[in-house]
Amino acid sequence: MAKREPSITTENFTAVQLMELDSCSRCGECVDWCPTYDASGQDPGLAPRDKILRWREYMNQSYGLRAKLFGPKEISEEEIEQFKDDVYGCTTCGMCATVCESAINTVELWESMRANLVKRGNGPFGKQGAFLKLIGEYKNPYMEDNANRVNWFPEDIKVEDKAEILYFGGCTAELKQRKLALATARLLNKLGIKFTMLGEDEICCGSALIRTGQYFINDTAKVNAQKNVDNIKAKGAKIVLYACAGCFRASKVDWPRLTEKELPFKVMHITEYLQGLIEKGEIKWEKSIDKTVTYHDPCHLGRHVGVFEPPRAVLEAIPGIKFIEMERIEENQRCCGAGGGVKAGIPDLALGVASTRVEDALATKAELLSSACPFCKRNLSDGRDAIGAKDLEVEDVVVLAAEAMGIDLSDSPE
Ligand code: SF4
Ligand code: SF4
Repeated sequence: MAKREPSITTENFTAVQLMELDSCSRCGECVDWCPTYDASGQDPGLAPRDKILRWREYMNQSYGLRAKLFGPKEISEEEIEQFKDDVYGCTTCGMCATVCESAINTVELWESMRANLVKRGNGPFGKQGAFLKLIGEYKNPYMEDNANRVNWFPEDIKVEDKAEILYFGGCTAELKQRKLALATARLLNKLGIKFTMLGEDEICCGSALIRTGQYFINDTAKVNAQKNVDNIKAKGAKIVLYACAGCFRASKVDWPRLTEKELPFKVMHITEYLQGLIEKGEIKWEKSIDKTVTYHDPCHLGRHVGVFEPPRAVLEAIPGIKFIEMERIEENQRCCGAGGGVKAGIPDLALGVASTRVEDALATKAELLSSACPFCKRNLSDGRDAIGAKDLEVEDVVVLAAEAMGIDLSDSPE
């Protein structure tokens, strides 16, 4: 009789990850802090601990001693499909990794499980399945002509053909939330900083493909990362600035892995760059923003890469702002709900998480909830609307900085 093949493979798991599966002590700390488990009404399938224990069991059934002696035990397709649904009900926010007493890098585990399931034909989830085709065909996930990335810039904006500083705008700010791209470009112009951009040669950073496990079945994410790196190099850039936390994380952490090389330039979030200018006294504020403002740490900017202080330094430097913190901040921040493909795949879950985060902001009595990522801004705005908190403004730190520098953004397309 032919020996049964294991239902799942180990091919994209590192040795460390296989050991991590065994190191979970079942303490349950991650369950208490998981935003999607909470927003789902404590759906047991979404509990991070239980996803690790289930995958560990699948590995044992497929490759454990019993499997070696008697052949792997079949895992039903129904069970794998349910597991797929559960592992995609996660924003990859990283909160479970922060509190894990066994120091398990859970985010990378979720992404590896997703990649394994995509390869197997189960993942990704819902509309996330369109990312690969769209990014391959259009170079962005919004089905927009890639030439439209910056061809809408008003005539006053000066973008150099080549420069040592390059602003990587990202699909969302260039094609959907253009006020952020406009604010960033005008702010750099006003500071007299010569910068260049990739324009229609810019390709999606790959975040959507990587976070949803779609980097393992073909080389789209890898090829695009290399093209972006090559195009940035050809522009003569030494520093690349980002106002999108997702693009920043993908460039800083994922591009070196995908291209298997160190980046030939430095990457910085724009708030890090602005903090340096503020410290040197190089920013002249022209307007006071007389509001109580709180700040939401984007997961991809904070927990994923450790940029906590710069956005706060920018807000605190803006005249008139009374800065106030929410209870859960920095490493312990509660996710906005948009990441990990959840906004595209499971929008109701994204909205539930966002609504809770907006409640956190309302508890501070702030008039304005700021963040430093267009995805956070979009989802927090949706959460604000969902709970009817119409008096709470939601705005990006960079837009606030530009306005305080006296920059007019009233001609912003959106
Ligand atoms: S990464 Fe965030 S959403 Fe995903 S399981 Fe961990 S705590 Fe929950
Ligand atoms: S916090 Fe870590 S050790 Fe504890 S149950 Fe969660 S994954 Fe396991």
